[in-house]
Amino acid sequence: MNNTLRGRNDLITWETSKPDNYFTADRNLQYVLRRHLGDERYAAIQDNLQNFGAECATIIDPGMKIEDRIGNHPRLERFNGVGERIEQIEFHPNHDVVGELIWKSGIMAMQAQPGNVVHQMALFYLLNHTADGHSCGLACTSGLIRSLQTVADETVRNKFLPPLLESDYHQMQHGAQFLTEVQGGSDVGANAIVARDMGDGTWRINGEKWFCSNINADQFLITARPENSQEGTRGLGMFIVPRKLDDGQTNGFYLRRLKDKLGTRTLASAEVDFVDAVAYQLGPLEGAFKNTVELVLNTSRLMNAVSCAGFMRRAYIEAASYACTRRAFGNPIAEYPMVQEAVSNIMSEYYAAVASSFALAALLDKIETGQATHTDKAAYRMLVNLNKYITSIRGTESIHQAIEVLGGNGAIESFSILPRLYRDMIVLESWEGTHNVLCLQVLRDIARYQVHEALIAYLKEQLAAVTHESLQQMASDVFESLDRTLTLLNRINITDTTKQQAHTRRLADAFSHVSQAALLLAEAQWELEQGLPTLKPDVVQHYINRRLIPNYDPLLDDEFLPRIQRLMMSY
Ligand SMILES: Cc1cc2nc3c(=O)[nH]c(=O)nc-3n(C[C@H](O)[C@H](O)[C@H](O)COP(=O)(O)OP(=O)(O)OC[C@H]3O[C@@H](n4cnc5c(N)ncnc54)[C@H](O)[C@@H]3O)c2cc1C
Repeated sequence: MNNTLRGRNDLITWETSKPDNYFTADRNLQYVLRRHLGDERYAAIQDNLQNFGAECATIIDPGMKIEDRIGNHPRLERFNGVGERIEQIEFHPNHDVVGELIWKSGIMAMQAQPGNVVHQMALFYLLNHTADGHSCGLACTSGLIRSLQTVADETVRNKFLPPLLESDYHQMQHGAQFLTEVQGGSDVGANAIVARDMGDGTWRINGEKWFCSNINADQFLITARPENSQEGTRGLGMFIVPRKLDDGQTNGFYLRRLKDKLGTRTLASAEVDFVDAVAYQLGPLEGAFKNTVELVLNTSRLMNAVSCAGFMRRAYIEAASYACTRRAFGNPIAEYPMVQEAVSNIMSEYYAAVASSFALAALLDKIETGQATHTDKAAYRMLVNLNKYITSIRGTESIHQAIEVLGGNGAIESFSILPRLYRDMIVLESWEGTHNVLCLQVLRDIARYQVHEALIAYLKEQLAAVTHESLQQMASDVFESLDRTLTLLNRINITDTTKQQAHTRRLADAFSHVSQAALLLAEAQWELEQGLPTLKPDVVQHYINRRLIPNYDPLLDDEFLPRIQRLMMSY
């Protein structure tokens, strides 16, 4: 066989070697779910995940690839054929093909009862093996459902909640969330858009919103300032603006244009003017912004992290499968140590993202079923921000590293999904809270509520279960890292706020790394206890060496090379 033919055949082998079911191919996910749910619950949802895992790999992924081609992106149709104002978005037909499968999985309907977050996040993780145009809408709808269930008065809940819980794509309604205005997204307290109370149970909204994703939604959750209310976030209310009025007319919102974006291009994001738009108050005005953060933003932050974990898993699949089939200088590149290290890095980071994101999902299930302690709730509050921060940073790094493994082919849009994942990942880094904003939130929560004490207690509880002999050294490394993190906190816990802020990201890094390492170790313990075939001890060791051990030197570690070889060859 000549070299050209061999090279092309290797690429064909690579393409056909990729999984046709993202669930059955993912042993780590299966273990993590079994651990959090228990055997009975896990067995009950397995078919659902297996079906959806196959649909994601064989229908949704190829469908989204076509929808994300230049020329196929959403288009704004402000008026219909006879000149009525509709403010609609026209999508490529694949948008609906994919949407039907997503909603049919029950991903939104299962939020009707508490206790389904782990299951819901498993579906969301499988979906996020691809870059799709629905995930943002799912996250917004999830936060809207949570808000309606928790703080809405009965009339508003009855009016808006039922269609959000539909599993039929053609019957359901979905949500969007608009906080950001042209003057800034981090400083939501600077919101200027105004809400006027009509005294009949409705409000009128006037002003503009600068970033409005999923603008094709039926219900917009927005922050707005009731007339004469105080400045800052305390003066904000949370409202629902329905797309259509009760008589079927388009509500008072006007799309200026769709954003031309680096990533998430199959999702329509607009700039919007609201002119006397009819709105309904969502929850009490008192504490409305706190509700927005806890019910809406924290939902999006969890789901953003699960998206990152899915993207990273996909980057791992692309890179590891390529390394096994691509040959250079006569050998599969998987045999070269620098490639092995790159793949091991991606692998350990996606395992870490899965560990921390599903631990959060399990905590949220506990909270929503009334089983959580005060410590659980405070630990959740801190970890949800840290986790959004760290997974989005590691997501970009991991996809970048996967692109490197594919060489020049990694940069080619038609060759693999990696360029699309990379572009979408940049967006996942900034929306739902930029890195700095999340770190500052963590710092504020530490100062106000000492949430770090709860997180540390929660992590120690995880570590207390780690009794397997082979994990003891790693457990003691994690404890030492926890001590160093506390020392760092004490050192920056100073009155000079400028100095304090200057070191906040280092603190967030330290807390994020130690949290992910502890959670990975707890998973490793469980897998060993169950007698399952697992590579997790190697994965955790690789993670700890890279992220926790000060001045770790692979040159002095005899196990470094065999470990990265084992991790590479495990694909
Ligand atoms: C594709 C896309 C879609 C989006 N869709 C939506 C949507 O549907 N709804 C919505 O509400 N928003 C949406 N956003 C907006 C997004 O949430 C904001 O971009 C984000 O919150 C940051 O706000 P900003 O862009 O105004 O940046 P700024 O707030 O202007 O921040 C700029 C930079 O300054 C940093 N910074 C700000 N304050 C501080 C500080 N005190 N200390 C240190 N650093 C600081 C930030 O971290 C950031 O790096 C979307 C964004 C994108 C890219």
